[in-house]
Amino acid sequence: MRPRSALAFGLSLVLLLAGCADPARNPSQAGGPPPSAAATPPASKPTASPRPTRTTPPKPRLRPLPTTLPAGLHRSSGDRGVALTFDDGPDPRWTPRLLDQLRAAHVTATFCLIGSQAKRYPELVARIAREGHQLCNHSWHHDINLGRRPVAEIRADLVRTDKAIRAAVPNAKIPYYRQPGGRWTPEVVAVARQLGMRSLHWSVDPQDWDHPTAKTIAKRVASAVRPGAIVLMHDGGGDRRPTLAACQHLIPDLNRRYGISRLR
Ligand SMILES: [Zn+2]
Repeated sequence: MRPRSALAFGLSLVLLLAGCADPARNPSQAGGPPPSAAATPPASKPTASPRPTRTTPPKPRLRPLPTTLPAGLHRSSGDRGVALTFDDGPDPRWTPRLLDQLRAAHVTATFCLIGSQAKRYPELVARIAREGHQLCNHSWHHDINLGRRPVAEIRADLVRTDKAIRAAVPNAKIPYYRQPGGRWTPEVVAVARQLGMRSLHWSVDPQDWDHPTAKTIAKRVASAVRPGAIVLMHDGGGDRRPTLAACQHLIPDLNRRYGISRLR
């Protein structure tokens, strides 16, 4: 291999690896409902070729993911209570049952909604808002690489998602954005801020997307939770029966021990 093509090959490898999923850093990315969303986008496919024919590697379309979380993430409830957040819905199988549980406990949560799901199930978005829960934009189609795309693409995705939520609930307040997979970049934080949304991270992740039992989910939350925690769970993106079964105990238990807070 000539030095130039060796360099191109090396660069291609780096680009390929940068486009791969990173489960250790971003475990919740698997919680997204569309498996296709986790795939490397077609535009970066040329970098996957083991024998690049071009001597100059193509310009990467995705900017690199920062190695540390960017500044400006909201990571605590704002008081001593625990805030509950539910991602990847609305889903007609699980969201209504979760709403029933929250209503029975007289507490509210934050729902990080996927735009395409909100468009499909506007009546669920309306119920979430009507019952006093907070709304969070979770991108149009759970694009874990959204923060790495051109700023105009990030903005279009977030605006489209906000529009789908507001089509269901006119003038809805959407105070938060949560990046799928927790793959934050300074760019996505900035765009969310420009659109009036704070970037909502979390402090407790029981990884309920990874098929643990209800008992394991409850145990993981109970052992990691602290005053002011933000707990990440899912009401969409897969079989959420274990999450719902865990919440049956977790919601009243956390409410008794810490109080369940609204984010502020
Ligand atoms: Zn998600």
